[in-house]
Amino acid sequence: MIEKSELVEKFVAYSPHVDPAPLELAWDFAAKAHENQARASGDHYLTHCAAVAQSLVEWRMDLPTVCAGLLHDTIEDTPTTEAELRSTFGEEIAMLVLGVTKLDALKFESRDDAQAENWRKMLLATAQDIRVIVVKLADRLHNMKTLNFLRRDKQERIAAETMALYAPLAHRLGMFKLKGELEDLSFSYTHPEEYAELKAKIDARLTESGKQLASAKAAIEKVLSGTTIPCRILARTKTLWSIYKKMERQQKPFEEIQDALGIRLITDTVANCYALLGLVHTHFKPVAGSFTDYISTPKLNLYRSLHTTIVGPAGDLVEIQIRTEEMHRSSEYGIAAHWRYKTGEQSKDVHLEEKLNWLRQWIEWLQDLNSPREFLDSLKTDLEFNQVFVFTPAGEVKVLPAGATPLDFAFAVHTEVGHTCVGAVVNNKMVRLDHALKSGDICRIVTKKGSTPKKDWLGFVRTARARSKIRHWLRERGIVA
Ligand code: MN
Repeated sequence: MIEKSELVEKFVAYSPHVDPAPLELAWDFAAKAHENQARASGDHYLTHCAAVAQSLVEWRMDLPTVCAGLLHDTIEDTPTTEAELRSTFGEEIAMLVLGVTKLDALKFESRDDAQAENWRKMLLATAQDIRVIVVKLADRLHNMKTLNFLRRDKQERIAAETMALYAPLAHRLGMFKLKGELEDLSFSYTHPEEYAELKAKIDARLTESGKQLASAKAAIEKVLSGTTIPCRILARTKTLWSIYKKMERQQKPFEEIQDALGIRLITDTVANCYALLGLVHTHFKPVAGSFTDYISTPKLNLYRSLHTTIVGPAGDLVEIQIRTEEMHRSSEYGIAAHWRYKTGEQSKDVHLEEKLNWLRQWIEWLQDLNSPREFLDSLKTDLEFNQVFVFTPAGEVKVLPAGATPLDFAFAVHTEVGHTCVGAVVNNKMVRLDHALKSGDICRIVTKKGSTPKKDWLGFVRTARARSKIRHWLRERGIVA
C-alpha cells in the first residue's frame, strides 16, 4: 500500500501551488472511519481507499477529487454522515463523495447491449460532475484487481459489468490505458481459458521477439544518439483483449496477428515528431502504405500520433508510433489529462469557465459515436440537464425529457399501459400522475383494465409520444377536436 507521505508527495509534484493539508486530513479521516473493516482479501480497508487515491494521483486529478477518492466509501460503509463530511471537508468534496455513493446504489442487472448504452448515459447523467465518474472508475479498477478474493459467481457478474459499462465509459472519456486494463482484467474472468492461452502465447512471443525488439530499439537509439532531439523509447504490447477481438474479427490465429508488439518514440514538439519520422525512414526501410499521420489528421476520438511500420535490423516488421509527451498523456489518460489546476489564484468563475470550455471541447471531440448529439445531451453534466433516466421495476431504463411524469413513462413502456394507467409508485411511494420524475427513480405503473385516458392528462404530459397517443384516443371518441 502507498504511504500517506508518498501520496502527498506525488500530488504536490504536479500541483505545487495547492496546499495538500486536506489530503492528509482525508487520509486520516478514512483510516479512522474504516478502522475496523477489512476487504475480502483480508487487507485493511484503507488499502482500498489508498489505491483509489493513488490512481487518481497518477491521472493527475485535482485536490477535491483525490480527497473524494480517499473518502468515497465512508458514507456507504461507515456511520459517517453527509453533514460530517460537509463540515470537515466543505461542499465540493462532500458532493463528490455523495455522487459516488449515489452511483453505487444503482445496480446494473440487464445483459442487453442497448440497455448497457442507456446505463452508461445514465451514469454520466446521475454523476452530475464528471469527476464522480473518474473516482468511480478508479474504484472499479482496484475492485477488479482484487476480484480473485470473491466468489466465482460474483467475479463473473462484476467482470461482465466492467466490460459492458466501465471499459466503454473509460474509452468514451479517452482514458485508453485504463480501458485496456479494465478489459484485460475482465477478460481473465469472463473467458478464463482463452485468456490463459493467449497470455502464454504473448509471453512466448515476447521472449522470442524480445530480442528482435531490443535490437530494433538499440538500432534506433544509435540513430538518435547522433541528434539533439530529446526522445524516450518505449516498447509496447497490445492488450490481450484487443488482440483477442482482432483474432475474432479477422478470423485469424494469433500467429498471424502482426502488430502485437511495437515501439513508441516520445519527444517534445510536433516538429520533432516529424524530424524523428524522417530519421527513422532514412535509416530503416518503411513498409509501403503503412504510414499514417494522425497528427495532421487526428482520429475522431482525438488520438494523435504518427504511425509507421519499418523493416527492423533482423528483417522483422516493427510498428513505430511517434508522438509528443502531451499526446502520450492525452492518449493514456484522456479526460483526466485535461483536468488541470490553474496555477496561482483565480476567481472561481474563471476556473469554472475553463472547466466548461474543456467539457465543450471534449464533447466536440467525442464524435466517434452513433449519435453524438444524444450523447452531448446526456453529458451536459456540468451545464444543465434536460433528460432523466427512469427504471422499470425490471431494471430497464427509459430516457425521458426533464419534467417527464409517470404518464410519460407509462406511454414509453407501452401504449396500452398508458391508456389504462390509474396510478404510479415511485421508489415504493405512491405519487400523483403529474409528479416530476428524477434520474434513478424506479417507477411502477398501476393499471386498471377498462380504464381510459382523461382529457386533463394533456395538461401535464411532457413527451410528444404520450401527448399524441392521448390526443389520438380522445379524438377518435370525439372528446377533443
Ligand atoms: Mn470502493
